[in-house]
Amino acid sequence: MYQKLSLYINGEFLSGDGRKTQEVFNPATQEVIGTLPHATEADLDMALQSAENAFATWKKSSPMDRSAILRKVGQLTRDRAKDIARNMTMDQGKPLAESMGELISCADHCDWHAEECRRIYGRVILPRNPDVRQLVLKEPIGVCVAFTPWNFPYNQAIRKICAAIGSGCTIILKGPEDSPSAVMAIAQMFHDAGLPPGVLNIVWGQPGKVSDYLIRSPISRKVSFTGSVAVGKQLAALAGEHMKRTTMELGGHSPVLVFDDADIERAATMLAKFKIRNAGQVCVSPTRFYVQKNAYDKFLAKFIDVLKTIKVGNGLDDGVEMGPLAHERRVPAISRFVEDARKRGATVEIGGDPLQGKGFFFPPTVITGLKDDSMLMTEEPFGPIAPVVPFTDVDEVIARSNSLPFGLSSYVFTNSLQTATKVSNSLEAGMVNINHFGSALPETPFGGIKDSGIGSEGGSETFDGYLVTKFVTHI
Ligand code: NAD
Repeated sequence: MYQKLSLYINGEFLSGDGRKTQEVFNPATQEVIGTLPHATEADLDMALQSAENAFATWKKSSPMDRSAILRKVGQLTRDRAKDIARNMTMDQGKPLAESMGELISCADHCDWHAEECRRIYGRVILPRNPDVRQLVLKEPIGVCVAFTPWNFPYNQAIRKICAAIGSGCTIILKGPEDSPSAVMAIAQMFHDAGLPPGVLNIVWGQPGKVSDYLIRSPISRKVSFTGSVAVGKQLAALAGEHMKRTTMELGGHSPVLVFDDADIERAATMLAKFKIRNAGQVCVSPTRFYVQKNAYDKFLAKFIDVLKTIKVGNGLDDGVEMGPLAHERRVPAISRFVEDARKRGATVEIGGDPLQGKGFFFPPTVITGLKDDSMLMTEEPFGPIAPVVPFTDVDEVIARSNSLPFGLSSYVFTNSLQTATKVSNSLEAGMVNINHFGSALPETPFGGIKDSGIGSEGGSETFDGYLVTKFVTHI
């Protein structure tokens, strides 16, 4: 049984009543699995009003009470993980083991936010006059509006919800219409955990219309978005027009730097497996593979060997390591990168064409012989496609790595401490992973620089975007 879908406004699950609906598909089978109601303007007004009303009391709630609810949701996530993961694989496509992994790591996010929200402190500034007291207070910003994507439907939503609720804000979240079950499950868990009505509201609809309406409303005070750079810039501009705080987790084009002195077989194996995670539909996916000349042939051979063994199929089937792309429009989007590469005379080493038959399947694809100005080397592919190109020395590869407007994640493989230090000091990226993949833990900040975004989620930075600073002085 697939998750029942509805809106969640002021503590009530709403559907029907003549609302427009949208079909939800399984990307592995193309079957319709659910029907999602869209919010009307009256629904959005109701969500705004209930979030505003709830803020009046939630902002004064004890951090202990907020913490207890977040912890309860963490436990419910573990208890219900099997069913939620199955639904997520059905509407998003990733293999069941990856869905389970996402759920379990999200339970940790809830626990960590539950602990950290009790440690939102202000400070005392020593006065010039001993009779004066100077206090810096951190207060919740107000009603937040958030828009989350389909690639990690549970993770992207829970991070924003935990940060908002933990800091004393209320939130209206529009989840991903393509893969809505996980966000629906989150609403049910907060409801069951006893969250007061209006603190969390879930809406669905035509993304541009909903975001425009919610951001323009004088009730909302903060905008949080995860998605493409183009949409992020549009939403940030609108938020700026209305002087609203933003957190923007946008796209990336993560460079991978493999130096001659690294363990090449290990690097190639790890990177191949990491590349196909969620069929490459990951903002921090390794994207441009720069391999130092002497190691190039060895790396490429091993990388291709590993990718050739990857079992592609329906994520619910045993042994499947990579599922379909999440929806129909991603197939031509990935094909365009291959077409551009072929036109430029590059070599498609493996893959390159969508798989025939039902489902939006695209095989692991490796392309060599590409110039740095090709589409695949400059635009975010968001799929299981990897360009591998050679480089000569460290200064050259740093310059090439920093040449794009993106600045999200980066990956380095080297056994030289000197190279590791130089590269981590020089890469223009919000996250640098050296010889392992270590980002996106609840206790570590996740976020980009340059066009890849504004602000961090996770780490003790997680609440920064949801709090305002008030200075109080008295004598
Ligand atoms: P898209 O840009 O149309 O949509 C991306 C996400 O943003 C979707 O969840 C969508 O519902 C939402 N969105 C789109 N327009 C919006 C608006 N005006 N207001 C609020 N939300 C809006 O593209 P797509 O085909 O769904 O996804 C492909 C691209 O999106 C990828 O190339 C990738 O760059 C980006 N993306 C990034 C992430 C990420 O984690 N940073 C996640 C998913 C998609």
